[in-house]
Amino acid sequence: MYKFSLLAVALILCTSSTLAIAQESEEDEKPQSSWLKLSASEKEDVEQYATDYKQFMESAKTELQFVAETIRRVEAAGFEPLTDTSTLTPGARFYDNNRDRAIALIVVGTDDLQNGFRVTGAHIDSPRIELKGRALYDKEDFALFQTNYHGGIKNYQWTSIPLALVGRIDKKDGSTEIISIGNDPGDPIFIIPELSPHVDGDLRDRTNRDVIAAEELDPIVGHIPGEDGVKQIVIDYLQSAYGATLDDLVSAELSLVPAYPPRDVGFDRGLMAIYGQDDRVSGYAAVRAIMDVDTPAQTAIAYLVDNEEVGNVNNTGASSTYLVDLMGRLLYAQLGDDYNEHLLRRARRATKAISSDVNPGINPIWPSVWESGNAPRLGHGVNFKLYGRGFNANSEYTAWIRNVLDEVGVPWQVATYKVGKGGGGTIGGELSDDNMEVIDFGIPLLSIHTPYSISSKVDVYWLYRALHAFYVK
Ligand code: MN
Ligand code: MN
Repeated sequence: MYKFSLLAVALILCTSSTLAIAQESEEDEKPQSSWLKLSASEKEDVEQYATDYKQFMESAKTELQFVAETIRRVEAAGFEPLTDTSTLTPGARFYDNNRDRAIALIVVGTDDLQNGFRVTGAHIDSPRIELKGRALYDKEDFALFQTNYHGGIKNYQWTSIPLALVGRIDKKDGSTEIISIGNDPGDPIFIIPELSPHVDGDLRDRTNRDVIAAEELDPIVGHIPGEDGVKQIVIDYLQSAYGATLDDLVSAELSLVPAYPPRDVGFDRGLMAIYGQDDRVSGYAAVRAIMDVDTPAQTAIAYLVDNEEVGNVNNTGASSTYLVDLMGRLLYAQLGDDYNEHLLRRARRATKAISSDVNPGINPIWPSVWESGNAPRLGHGVNFKLYGRGFNANSEYTAWIRNVLDEVGVPWQVATYKVGKGGGGTIGGELSDDNMEVIDFGIPLLSIHTPYSISSKVDVYWLYRALHAFYVK
């Protein structure tokens, strides 16, 4: 009996220490693609989410289109415009349109607002080409547009690809014309001509970013001469289609974006090629996540902003006071005359935020630019940005987020560039400036800032699940 017990104890000890070793080695072993761990029903969820995402992205190629499309969807899901007489009952759903270029979605929680919000933030602008104020000119029997660029593009990637013209023209009488030409298969497209290899001998010494200069990014927009030259047809078209003059183009925001639609990539369709996934992949995830929140404890906000790619500038960018003003407005709606600034500052300090934005994932053609132990891989879930140098979220908040993700089984990885070798901004710094608790994370992509970036369907889905789990934790 005694001997048997000893043996049993030895067996238990042996088993538990083997278990401990097994757990340890699980963390040490080479990370596995999360595709391998999906259940059959999760695979269906991933594919369904990817289908919805592609549909959304086809209709949301700029911040203006993102806001319009989001309002259409959230109104259908019961969100109402926030007004000064809105009553903040738990579970109430609102949206606030910031000048058509940024938007906040709100689901009221059960807790007092002074105890803090849950904010997910993302930017909805992407690198692209924009029209100058006096854009139209003619040269060598072509009509062209003068352009500028928004965000960090490699100019040479924007020649010889189909471009759509999208945006708005605002007139002196206060009316607005919404422009979208080139996305419909029956539409004409616009195109920046490339120099044929037969005649580019003089330009072959140009290097990388200068292969095409920024001032050479002018699309052809007309060819058939009218009575007053080749520009006339374009002027006539603007007048007949939109009642717009060339002066009206001065008060316009017109962008050239890739005209091609989202497509699946590869024999297995595991990847997607889509323009503008930086960072509308996060913007869409935030919209979907908050739409799926019922009544949270802390009031949930999805904060989707413009102009991250140019430094978070302007009143629709993350450096605006808009978010803090919105929090004050909500607090005032809840407290009335009991509102004071101290309570708003308390709410800010108690707020937890996720700044979601993309990272360059390990690229199979150039893996050596990454330090593989700290670089994110497509198919491996969301990644925490651990850039160091004061950029990281504090470690206790990172631990809290790890727990949120582990509880719902969202795979996560880390992203640290080779020391001194990488960079890129987010809106996280702006949220930290407002004294909230902020962590930067997102998913890895290939070909960021190109006309056709690549994501893994499974990461795109995990990002949505992560943001949803954060809201309801
Ligand atoms: Mn970004
Ligand atoms: Mn970017």
